[in-house]
Amino acid sequence: MCYAIPGKVLEISERTATVEYFGERKKAYTDLFDVTVGDYVYAQGGFLIQKVEPKEAREILTDWRELFFRLQETDKKLTDNPQNLYERANAIRQKHQGNSCCVHGILEFSNYCRNNCLYCGIRKDNKSLTRYRLEIPEILKAVDNAVQLGFKALVLQSGEDPYYDADKLETIVREIRNRYPVLLFVSIGERDLNTYKRLYEAGARGVLIRFETSNPELYTKVKPESTLEARLKLIKDIRELGYLIVTGFLVGLPGEKKGDVLRNIKLTASLGAEMFSFGPFIPHSQTPLKDAGSPNLTQMFKTIARARLMNPEAKILVTTALETLGKNDTSPLRDPVRDNGARQALLAGANSIMINVTPLQYRKLYDIYPERFGVDLDTQKHINQVIQLLQSLGRAPTDLSVSNS
Ligand code: SF4
Repeated sequence: MCYAIPGKVLEISERTATVEYFGERKKAYTDLFDVTVGDYVYAQGGFLIQKVEPKEAREILTDWRELFFRLQETDKKLTDNPQNLYERANAIRQKHQGNSCCVHGILEFSNYCRNNCLYCGIRKDNKSLTRYRLEIPEILKAVDNAVQLGFKALVLQSGEDPYYDADKLETIVREIRNRYPVLLFVSIGERDLNTYKRLYEAGARGVLIRFETSNPELYTKVKPESTLEARLKLIKDIRELGYLIVTGFLVGLPGEKKGDVLRNIKLTASLGAEMFSFGPFIPHSQTPLKDAGSPNLTQMFKTIARARLMNPEAKILVTTALETLGKNDTSPLRDPVRDNGARQALLAGANSIMINVTPLQYRKLYDIYPERFGVDLDTQKHINQVIQLLQSLGRAPTDLSVSNS
């Protein structure tokens, strides 16, 4: 993983640059702009995203040097002598992925959806939901705010909303890439491959698309407009286009069979996921699954730990759904001030977090499950909380530039 501080390009071979951060070397693709050896750059998700003036880069690096090594030291101390499942998973994370932690911003630009997934609160048949769409200028303004706050990787997410056709999506991606040095992911559901091709050419480099369950019968039941086979084919085809893939599943989906979680983890890995994303099923009152129960936090932490032990090199996300479950958890283990399950998830092997950058007036309306964590939290406050949490665990954010003071 690349840090959210400038690195120096040491060498370039074909489309890959070797970038150095305080003696550590990372590889990143150079295809978003031209670079030469000696340039200072920001790199995210394995792509160079921005050049930095040498004077500015050196000032940032001087500011960061002490903190950089101090964080690594803290992380190493916390992973010494692992005893239980979580500690072993966390030690594996430290050994293979170091102390870097992705912090992506997520912008939910439309809560319209043409589908009726049984578990989802923004399903088409939820007539009680107020729907919203952000027009292109609003999207650009929200992206601008996020970039000003320091984000270097953003996910643009919506329901499957045909209002945003390929032309519109391409314009959005191209405008953002022309204006801002961010690594852009899209999360827009099942679109034809040509749309994904056009978005790649416009500058998007990642796709968040979960398969939700590896159980084909359960899939057809809960996602009636699609099949597991079609979904997996699309994910594979998108990956072939060159995209980074974020994928995963729901834990505790009603109808889940014994062994499904393990199969879900294996399927996530077999799809070549850049990042694993799995959240708990949380029932929504306006869905057919409203009376089903959720898994508990321990099941979530165990799933993270097992996924980590099976996939030492993975980026594993602390999902907002997990934080929502944690927010409502009353167990004595929970520290309500310092985390919402995020701390334990990070200590069980997770190493990625997302922060909602959707304008506050829309967040509550992206109601995929109830009482989502962070819907009324000011983004700057949320960033501060996340940075405080990460630094207390010796982690360095990789997609969010922050001052070290
Ligand atoms: S899960 Fe996605 S595709 Fe299904 S109803 Fe919700 S937003 Fe639409």
